[in-house]
Amino acid sequence: MVGKLMNKNDSKYIIKGNKNKWEVVIGLEVHAQVISNSKLFSGSSTKFGANPNTQVSLVDSAFPGMLPVINNYCVEQAIKTGLGLNAKINLHSVFDRKNYFYADLPQGYQISQYKNPIVGEGKVVLDLPNGSKTVGIERLHLEQDAGKSIHDIDPNNTYVDLNRSGIALMEIVSKPDLRSLDEVNAYVKKLRSIMRYLGTCDGNMQEGSLRADVNVSVRKLGEKNLGTRCEIKNVNSIKFMQMAIDYEAKRQVKLLEDGKSIDQETRLFDTKKNETRSMRSKEDAHDYRYFPDPDLLPLKIDKDLIDDIRKKLPELPDQKKDRFIKEYALTPYEANVLVSEKEISDFYEDVAKSSDKKLAATWIMGDLFALLNNKDLSITKSPVSAKNLGELIKYIKSGEISGRIAKEVFEHMAQSGENPKKIIESKGLKQQSDPKELERIIKGILEKNKTNVEKYKSGKEKIFGFFVGEVMKMSKGKANPQLVNEILKKLLKG
Ligand code: ADP
Ligand code: MG
Repeated sequence: MVGKLMNKNDSKYIIKGNKNKWEVVIGLEVHAQVISNSKLFSGSSTKFGANPNTQVSLVDSAFPGMLPVINNYCVEQAIKTGLGLNAKINLHSVFDRKNYFYADLPQGYQISQYKNPIVGEGKVVLDLPNGSKTVGIERLHLEQDAGKSIHDIDPNNTYVDLNRSGIALMEIVSKPDLRSLDEVNAYVKKLRSIMRYLGTCDGNMQEGSLRADVNVSVRKLGEKNLGTRCEIKNVNSIKFMQMAIDYEAKRQVKLLEDGKSIDQETRLFDTKKNETRSMRSKEDAHDYRYFPDPDLLPLKIDKDLIDDIRKKLPELPDQKKDRFIKEYALTPYEANVLVSEKEISDFYEDVAKSSDKKLAATWIMGDLFALLNNKDLSITKSPVSAKNLGELIKYIKSGEISGRIAKEVFEHMAQSGENPKKIIESKGLKQQSDPKELERIIKGILEKNKTNVEKYKSGKEKIFGFFVGEVMKMSKGKANPQLVNEILKKLLKG
């Protein structure tokens, strides 16, 4: 069975079975940890990496009689995120109890939102190689995280760490609008980027701040109705999401082509075996006995609060992208890459404010990204500062150094962190742009290569490149190429 992206204008992931072509349909429930110093209903710290069970209040450990108190900051964070997703904010929403038993859930229920979430429908725009695509958002609701069961430090016992218990999560539910692994990648990255711009979720997938339940179904190409979905729980990297979807979609195609049907169920992705496995048959809402939490009043939000938050929203990636295209004459592709992370866009603007806007984009996306990639560094840790890169670009633009020498200077900057002025001066790398001096060198070269000069004059024009090469060799790459060309042409005519 081969799965492949169809043609250029179609980013759908189509699986060719033995009998039919199948389209893959995906919807994500992303769980994003809210940036907040304290938990959703208690004052305990949310700091990552503390010793087990050191950040647990009586509310988080569900002591009888303890009452939850809503953390207003988390509510504001959810509103902010909702606005960033172009979504409707519901002035009235309700916290419900979702009842289930697990050792790391001391309350015996999770406080979540069910029928009346804080944020309603919205949309996210993805930039894909073939154009943009809008993905619908079904809802965003606030809920508590559970504790963590640790199975691997003791062969006979499972340990429970309640530090995470009660931390605020936003669950962002997409419509089943995603059609390929690339779209899933673009969607998760875009959500992450929006929330990082807003400062509502740090998007750190290694620390579990962003994870997703992945819903997958397949249907015959051209079919309008959706197929039966399976939900793969708690996947914590984009790579694993893609692997899980790929495996799951092919599994479903095989079943359907064998005349079997899909059971709607909850599955696990085994990252070691690269396969999904059945966990339990899909629970329905009624299995959870949802009911409004009697300890919490319905959440009423003031319209003024929403307007106030809206006014203070930072510039978001889509707006920044438009501005970069207009203000700096970048291509949509360049703008898209540069706004993907706020830190990258800040760095770009820092470089561009004092130098050529286009060259700044080219250098950041080329040499600087290569360097950071190589050293596995984020842009905030770049050994080449924005100021120094800006200066280097000024040297190139003014013709004082050639593009080739600039690369050499950049290498030195990467190693030493020095500014370009110092490197260019101490290594004598300035471009040779004195016409008299260049003429002297070129005359010498023509003198030494008389046969080639004759050949050139008799029509072998390709030899021109040979002379340029010789001049560059003589000048250790520093001769101004444009001047070399002009002088060479002049002298070879004579
Ligand atoms: P549940 O709590 O039962 O998982 P939700 O409404 O929270 O239900 O989430 C359902 C998710 O499944 C959404 O992201 C939605 O887009 C997705 N989904 C629904 N139907 C399908 C389908 N047929 N194929 C793929 N994804 C689907
Ligand atoms: Mg679900």
